[in-house]
Amino acid sequence: APALELRDITAGYDRRTPVVRGVSLTVADGEAVGLLGPSGCGKSTLARVAALLHRPWSGTVRLSGRPARGFRHRAPRELRTSVGVVFQQPRLAADPRLTLADLIAEPLRATGRRAEVPERLPELAASVGLGGDLLTRRPHEVSDGQLQRACLARALVLRPELLICDEMTAMLDASTAAALVAAVEEYRRARGAALLAVGHDRVLLGRWCDRVVDFPAG
Ligand code: ADP
Ligand code: ADP
Repeated sequence: APALELRDITAGYDRRTPVVRGVSLTVADGEAVGLLGPSGCGKSTLARVAALLHRPWSGTVRLSGRPARGFRHRAPRELRTSVGVVFQQPRLAADPRLTLADLIAEPLRATGRRAEVPERLPELAASVGLGGDLLTRRPHEVSDGQLQRACLARALVLRPELLICDEMTAMLDASTAAALVAAVEEYRRARGAALLAVGHDRVLLGRWCDRVVDFPAG
């Protein structure tokens, strides 16, 4: 089954004006799809629907053939954990009280897999280029790039079948951006995972995606 099937999704916030209107999009198993469009056109909203973080007004979401029967806290855990998400602004996504190590490991703890932390943490930190001493710091003690590395590691810690990167590199310098894209590519090679990458730069998206779809996709 495809990693992600969005069928005729309409979604919005204020109950009057939808920001996503009747959009369908399929990401095949193991495929990398770029979602391209100008700022404000609804890409992040669609990405949040795909990650089960925002309930659409209508339409259906399937992850590896399994229909989403709930959104946000009502989404079944096994479905929620099959998608990893990285957002544009790591400071909004990261709990400021947690060390980077705790941030990365939190999904393991939350799913009763605390025992895997000692094995997974060093391997994951290395895969995103985070040195050991950074892991004991909190978000305000590291750069945006270092924090985004931790956010990517956190998105990968449960080995999702689908990774959604919503403008993951938009805030980063070119070398950090390249390192994070390389880490995603390495994960996908090892795991055969699919990718939905949201962005506004066709050349950058084209470099790491099998195909690029102009939003709104039909
Ligand atoms: P993009 O990712 O393409 O920049 P978004 O999905 O973030 O687009 O936004 C689409 C539209 O929805 C914009 O007009 C934006 O202001 C609005 N919007 C986004 N998030 C929210 C929200 N949480 N509440 C209300 N309006 C929102
Ligand atoms: P639901 O799908 O249940 O309606 P939302 O996806 O609308 O939930 O809410 C997701 C998150 O977006 C919430 O934590 C909410 O606080 C936040 N949010 C609401 N309005 C805005 C806005 N205008 N800009 C950014 N974030 C917002």
